[in-house]
Amino acid sequence: FQNNLLNLQPVAMENPLEELRDGIISFSGDGTVVDLNNRMCRILKKPWNKVAGNNLEEAFPELSSKLIETGLFPTNRNDSRRLVSHFVFDYGSSHFDTLVYFTSKYIKVTMHDVTDLIKDFETNRNLAARDPLTGIFNRRQGEHSIKTRLQSEEYGDVPYCFVVFDIDYFKQINDQFGHQTGDLILKEITQVFNQSIRPSDILGRFGGDEFILLLHLVTPEQAESILIRIQETIRSHPFLSEDNQVVRPTISIGAITATTAANLPYNDIFFMADEALYQAKEQGRDTVVVRH
Ligand code: GH3
Ligand code: MG
Repeated sequence: FQNNLLNLQPVAMENPLEELRDGIISFSGDGTVVDLNNRMCRILKKPWNKVAGNNLEEAFPELSSKLIETGLFPTNRNDSRRLVSHFVFDYGSSHFDTLVYFTSKYIKVTMHDVTDLIKDFETNRNLAARDPLTGIFNRRQGEHSIKTRLQSEEYGDVPYCFVVFDIDYFKQINDQFGHQTGDLILKEITQVFNQSIRPSDILGRFGGDEFILLLHLVTPEQAESILIRIQETIRSHPFLSEDNQVVRPTISIGAITATTAANLPYNDIFFMADEALYQAKEQGRDTVVVRH
């Protein structure tokens, strides 16, 4: 009685709304909450009587400020048009597809939980970008990220090193130790690289036993010493086959250093690094060739 609950119209509750998955809350134009369903109580983690009759500002401040952004709340409208607003509302760690009906008498909000949907979407997008074996970018995403990085103006004139590397005699490793061991080697070599580069560098599996890498913001001298160090790490890394035999893979590396100011087309950069890789193979493998 204190809150004049008896004067309020239980507008949102005429249907068996308790069955619904969606949270529903309705309130007057000044924000006095008229009613809400069980699902909304669960979303808010508050019992019905702590919300109904109270002001939205207190009961659900996040929704209140979100609605103030629409410019339609709080309101004292007396036209009879019904206005609808629709947005994704992030609350806690959940995401809600949210629909707001503004009428002259009350405002009704329905919140449909789309957290799983958004997670699935992000997972799928992630899967499409990554090589399933190594977890790093696949060729498409790797090249896309590298091209985007090289074109982005925000860093100004940046020295970089574009790298192509390939495992030496990988076919023999497969033949000698089996394909499963080959897979292990691919994963572990990827890990060695991941641990040796910075988060702003971009690593991708080009295909088979060939990889691409962008070292970002490095001088030619730094690039060369990073690559030589990684090559040494791989040479001394304790790789084991599935049946615990020692495997000694090596890699050949081709690279080109340049600066973003030179504005080289990606295809040219790739071609030059790939040529350097070919030269590294020709020179007997397990070596780095850097072109400047
Ligand atoms: P090189 O030193 O000239 O690079 O010799 P190589 O034997 O590494 O070169 P080649 O291109 O002849 O062989 C690459 C091998 O990589 C052939 C293929 O069976 C193997 N390979 C490609 N992708 C995978 C994979 O996902 N897993 C495994 N285990 N092997 C793979
Ligand atoms: Mg190879």
